[in-house]
Amino acid sequence: MDITAESVLQRTPEQLAGISFNCACGLAHRVHMRKMILEEGALHKVRELVHELNLGRKALLVADSASFAAAGKALAEQLSRQGMDVRLSVFPEEQWYADEKAIVRVLIDVEPDTELIIAVGSGTINDIARFVGFKAKIPYIVVATAPSMDGYASTGSPILVNGFKKTYSLASPVAIVGDLTVLRQAPRDRSAAGVGDMLAKITALCDWLLASVVEEEPYCDVIAGLMVKALTGIIGSVRSIRDGEERATKLLMEGLVLSGIAMQMIGHSRPASGAEHHISHYWEMRHFAAGHRTELHGIKVGVATPIVLKLYETLLEADAAALPMKEKSAGQVAEWERRIRQSYGPLSEELIGMNRSLLLNQSELDIRRARLIGNWPELKRKLREIMDLAPDVKSLLRQVGAPADPGEIGVSPEELGDALRMAKEVRNRYTVLQLADQLGLLERFAEEMASLHGD
Ligand SMILES: [Zn+2]
Ligand SMILES: [Zn+2]
Repeated sequence: MDITAESVLQRTPEQLAGISFNCACGLAHRVHMRKMILEEGALHKVRELVHELNLGRKALLVADSASFAAAGKALAEQLSRQGMDVRLSVFPEEQWYADEKAIVRVLIDVEPDTELIIAVGSGTINDIARFVGFKAKIPYIVVATAPSMDGYASTGSPILVNGFKKTYSLASPVAIVGDLTVLRQAPRDRSAAGVGDMLAKITALCDWLLASVVEEEPYCDVIAGLMVKALTGIIGSVRSIRDGEERATKLLMEGLVLSGIAMQMIGHSRPASGAEHHISHYWEMRHFAAGHRTELHGIKVGVATPIVLKLYETLLEADAAALPMKEKSAGQVAEWERRIRQSYGPLSEELIGMNRSLLLNQSELDIRRARLIGNWPELKRKLREIMDLAPDVKSLLRQVGAPADPGEIGVSPEELGDALRMAKEVRNRYTVLQLADQLGLLERFAEEMASLHGD
């Protein structure tokens, strides 16, 4: 059967699992994850799923103390009763970081004849299991315990190596299981973080559109359409998500898994991550270097989203296409390098090298500006459409019980200003931060935001 764009847009994440199709955008999209079960009592279907996907009988179940209590223990007992050989690798405390030590701990528990890894947990446990499964060439499935982040179906794991976070490109889980009974009982800050990670897609999608015009990056209307559909449902259900209602929890979890599926389809993280994620990474690095405990990922990107939206508003009001783009002077480049060294310490030389390609000369800037001018009315209209999905992101964050201002998550006005100036160097990727910089507006915006949040 031919799969059309319209039929893809009608599908739930469960129905998108395992599909591949040639898209109108010119790319062939493929979802590597083969199966998803999201319903009440889904834990009882794990044995059947393992059998159906032919994943063997000998499994290593990876969990931490919290996720073991929430679902891991019951699942291990049940699978053992059903004839599987389940070995446990359970962290004695709640695991906050995927680092070298955690990975080796799980690797020690992998046996030569382990056929399957079952990750029971959310972000960190999933990241560890993905890494170990990929390196040991063992397929893994995830049993989700909280709708807290969008990494379930993603193919990369951020791992702390020597104290710095590095994202490794690995593999998708073969299957994702979400038991709504378990997900609804997750602590409230987890679903609040999940909503934050979804609201962040508003600015991520704006950045993707912007990059498709200014940098002529490939863009897919079908994938963006899937994300908008998921976002719309979640935005309309924020209070019910906070209250742990079944239908709303399902919508949130579907949106989070869909974000990973969208990344699998397009082969990069554009549909799910933009400037708001870069700002959050910047804060995280600063806080980690200072020895502070960091907030949940979704909480940080949620706080960064209204700030990036404000920058979009500023550029739309200033009629960005009417403004000049000027090449940086030698003095400005030297200042740029100085700031990177100051912000990024041991990573700075690598980041300077990586980002030099984004420092454009005047003729390269003229080309970008011509693209912006040529597409401005349509780009403006499309950006506005996405931004209008949630005219008041801060109030949505508050409704779900999440912090909405940088100060509430320990980000000082100075760290806010620095993040706006420097977060674009975290990844070699074009976002609204680069556009504002090219138009000479970024410094003033950073100062304004820092003083606004300093009162
Ligand atoms: Zn995220
Ligand atoms: Zn496409």
